Amino acid sequence: MSSIFSKIIQGEIPSYKIAETEDFYAFLDINPLAKGHTLCVPKKEVDYIFDLDDDTLSGLHLFSKRVAKALETCITCKRVGVLVIGTEVPHTHVHLIPFQHEAQMAITSLKLKVEKEEMEEIAKKVSDKFLEMN
Ligand code: 5GP
Repeated sequence: MSSIFSKIIQGEIPSYKIAETEDFYAFLDINPLAKGHTLCVPKKEVDYIFDLDDDTLSGLHLFSKRVAKALETCITCKRVGVLVIGTEVPHTHVHLIPFQHEAQMAITSLKLKVEKEEMEEIAKKVSDKFLEMN
């Protein structure tokens, strides 16, 4: 059975898309720790990040860097933090979190309630910036 992230990549489930390449996809986390919290995923469905082949693993990090550069120009933050956990969704994903306070990097912290309109606004701003920078 396809993971929820494969369904998002295939457009079967909607997402606030940030960026897409042939091999990778980025979209806003539905329960963000900070505004602009983004997930970067390989289209190839592999549960555990360290089971990825070397090209996909390095490609995922380079893609995440490009997304982070777009995020940090659009969202006011101290810096973009990187987190990999993967216990909830068995499809490798890198969390990019534009944090203002270190506590926002804890996955157990309270999630923000961001309205649909604002999620759409953030996604448009960051995805436009990603296209402009790449
Ligand atoms: P992890 O597996 O790294 O613990 O966390 C999975 C992350 O995926 C969580 O931050 C959760 O909010 C996010 N997530 C789970 N289901 C969906 C979904 O359907 N759409 C989006 N955009 N994010 C999701």
